[in-house]
This record gives sequence, structure tokens and C-alpha cells, in this order.
Amino acid sequence: MSRVQAIELVYLFCAVCFIVALKGLSSPRSARLGNIIGAVGMTVAVGATFATPGLHRIVLIIVALVVGTAVGVPAARAVKMTAVPQMVAAFNGVGGGAAALVSLAEFDRGHASFGTAAAVLFSTLIGAASFTGSAITFAKLQELMTGRPVVLPRQRDINVALGVTAVALIAWGLSDRSVTAAVLLTLVAGVMGVLFVLPVGGADVPVVISLLNSFTGLAVAATGAVLRTTLLIVAGTLVGASGTLLTRMMSQAMGRPLSNTLFGALTASASTAAAVDEGGDRSVRTGTVDDVAVLLAYAQRVVVVPGYGLAVAQAQHTIRELADLLESRGVEVIYGIHPVAGRMPGHMNVLLAEANVPYEQLREMDEVNPQLPQTDVVLVVGANDVVNPAARDSPGSPIYGMPILNVDEARAVVFLKRSMRPGFAGIDNALLYDPKTTMLFGDAKDTLTALVSAVKAA
Ligand code: NDP
Repeated sequence: MSRVQAIELVYLFCAVCFIVALKGLSSPRSARLGNIIGAVGMTVAVGATFATPGLHRIVLIIVALVVGTAVGVPAARAVKMTAVPQMVAAFNGVGGGAAALVSLAEFDRGHASFGTAAAVLFSTLIGAASFTGSAITFAKLQELMTGRPVVLPRQRDINVALGVTAVALIAWGLSDRSVTAAVLLTLVAGVMGVLFVLPVGGADVPVVISLLNSFTGLAVAATGAVLRTTLLIVAGTLVGASGTLLTRMMSQAMGRPLSNTLFGALTASASTAAAVDEGGDRSVRTGTVDDVAVLLAYAQRVVVVPGYGLAVAQAQHTIRELADLLESRGVEVIYGIHPVAGRMPGHMNVLLAEANVPYEQLREMDEVNPQLPQTDVVLVVGANDVVNPAARDSPGSPIYGMPILNVDEARAVVFLKRSMRPGFAGIDNALLYDPKTTMLFGDAKDTLTALVSAVKAA
């Protein structure tokens, strides 16, 4: 067996690792193992690459590896769980940019075949758009810029002009194998990436991150075709396919077609804008921790609805303490999990698993909804959009159509949040003003800690 064949065999092993890793990531129980298997596959792949015959500039490659590791490892360790979407955006963007640059560098080598030229142009187009688009999603989620949709004057015309320019550059690049065309295409694609993401607002940004992730996968696969590296093609295709599936699942869970998520702001009507502000001067009922403790302690069934704020407050252990305490007093406690509660799919499951909340207590939205009319108290802990009745009742609302937890059907609702500020979608929630709702303002962890003491005393 030649050295090249041996490397191909090792790459095959790595590809299998990636597939097994993805399978593992599909369940919280096996996710950790899946992650380790993926990391092993990647490490072996990088190691095997060093054995490639005729590899040049090994010192530069090692320097790049050291720099990447020095930046990536501490960043991944330090990141808070609530900031994982923007970290994914940053890493994903870098991947897309790298795929585009590697393809461009290969194109520079001269007389490419038609197929190679097509792969280079595809990779630069998608990779560059993914790089700049991801940079904008990062800025939006990190609050470095407004999270609201930004639409430039005559943006539709600009989009069409950029699209036509990109097609012309691709035609030029294919016919002349022109490096200049490829470089110009990279620049145009970079602008397209920015304009693609700017009109996407608040709550939809994670969906776009997932879509850009699949773009990066396709760019990497095309770069694999340029370099004739099977493993890159396989890995890129896996990322592309899983990113596409995840994007579809997120759109479905939010009850909106992807086209509406991406282009909604470009086609927004006045009625949509009007639906956003409906707060008015209505009064809200604020309660005390002692009132709520009594309500909880004498309830038969309590449903906890966790949301993004639970993750911000890192109150997962305290909510479990409260649930255990109530159960010891004979109260039935279950958790109602909305598929897009938090900022990434499975966010609440992971968070509650960290506090060892038993899986049997976690119920999916479809299972919980029929039980809500017979529920005494719903404790909404840092959630907002996922219980907003506007998604069900207000056709003009930006979240209209998203399935929600119908907590307004329960006998009493208690909201734990810090203020009347809206959730990620930036829209008012009429349930906060409902006579059956009690507001407990404050950081969720502080409020829950006080509730635990008050229930003990009740
Ligand atoms: P929301 O963003 O709607 O609401 C979170 C609430 O938590 C806010 O109203 C905030 O109110 C409160 N909060 C923040 N910090 C704290 C704290 N320390 N203590 C107490 N409360 C706090 O979250 P949801 O989970 O209800 O909804 C998720 C949103 O994300 C949806 O719009 C969904 O579409 C979107 N999304 C989710 C995805 C996913 O995969 N999970 C993907 C794409 C989008 P206040 O500031 O007053 O405290």
C-alpha cells in the first residue's frame, strides 16, 4: 500500500468518525461522546495531512495551528452558554473565509480545468458571503449593532445589481479562468453576505447562523473538490446537509417559512410594523415572593416554563431546588419545554440536564399544552416570546404562526423577569397584563432563591 493510499484509508476512518459524531450529537445523552469522537476524527485528519507527500511550508502550517489553538481553546472555554450562537457564528465565518481563500490561492496556480474553475468560483462566492454574513450575525447577537432589521434604501435594486454582477463575474471566471474575476467575485460576495443578513431581525438571527453554517459546509466541500481531498468533500457535505436540516427544523419550530425569515423585512407591510407596539398604558399586577410561595405550596400541579432568562441568570440549580421542595410537599411539577426556548435548539434541555433535572419531568410543548387548562400555576422563568399569545391570536404580529405554550389557559401565571422589556422578538406580550398574571420582578436566580426560602416557611 502506498503512502497516499494509507492516508486515504485514514481519511475514511475520520469521515466515519464525523458521521458517528453527528449521530451522537442528536441526543443530549450521547452528545458528549459524539463530540469527543468528532474531535478525535479531526485530530487524526490534521495529523494525517502532515504525512502528505510533497507538503511544503510545514513551519507556516504549524504556526497557523498554534495561533488557531491559542485563540480557539480559551474562547470556547470562556464563552457563556448564552453566547454560544455568536461563537458559532464567529467560528463558522472564519471557516467560510478560509475555504474561499484556499480556493483563491489554488486558482492562482494557473491553467485550471473548467470543473476546478467552477469549484473555485463557487467556493469563493459562498465562502466570502458566509464570512461577512457571519460577521454581521455576530455583531447583532453581541449587541455591537442594533438587533432590529436594517433595510437600506432601494435595497432590492442593490441586491439585483449585485446578483447580476456576480453572475457576470462567474461567466468571466469560467471562460477566461481569470483570477481577477475570482477576486472581484469574492469582494462582491462579501457585500452580498452583509446585505443578506442586515434585514434579518432579533429572534431570527440564530436561524440565519444555521443557514450560513450550511453555506460554509458547501464552500468547504467545493474547496475539497479544488484540492482533490475526499475528506474535505465529505466533511463539507456533512456540515452543509446538517446545517440545512437544522435550518429547516428551526424554521418549522418557529412556524414560519424560511423565505419569510430571510426576506420578511424587505417585503414588510405597514400592518406588521403596527403590530409591534401594542403595550399602551395597561396596568400589571406585581406580587410578593410570599404570595407566590403560598400559591405554589398549595397547588396540585405546577408547570415550569424555562426560557432564555433562566440561562442568563444561571438559575437552573435553583429552579430544581424549588421543584424538589414542591414535590416533597406533594405538588406535581413538570417542565414545559418549547423547541426554540433560549437561543439554540435544545438550549433548555442542556441547561436543565446540567442541574440533573430528571428527564421524565421534561415535557415537550405538544405534550404539555393539553394539560395546561388543568394546571394551577405556570411559573414562567425568563421566557417571553414562547408564551406570547400574539403568536396565536394576532395575524399582524412578526411571530404569528409560531406554536406556543398556551400558558394563558392555566389558572394562574407567574412571570419571573427583571422588567417589562420584551423578549428576543422585540414585541410586547399581552399576557403580562392579563388579570391572572402575577409579575415577580428581579433576576430569576435571586427571585427563585427567595421563593425557596418562602416555600419552606409557608
Ligand atoms: P425571550 O428572549 O423571548 O425572553 C427572555 C426573557 O428573559 C426576556 O423577556 C427577559 O426579560 C428575561 N430575562 C433576561 N435575563 C433575565 C434574568 N437574569 N432574570 C430573569 N429574567 C431574565 O426568550 P424565550 O426563551 O421565551 O424565546 C426564545 C426566543 O429566541 C424566541 O423569540 C425564539 O424564536 C428565538 N429563537 C430561538 C432559537 C432556538 O433555537 N432556541 C433559534 C432562533 C430564535 P427582562 O429583560 O425583563 O428580564
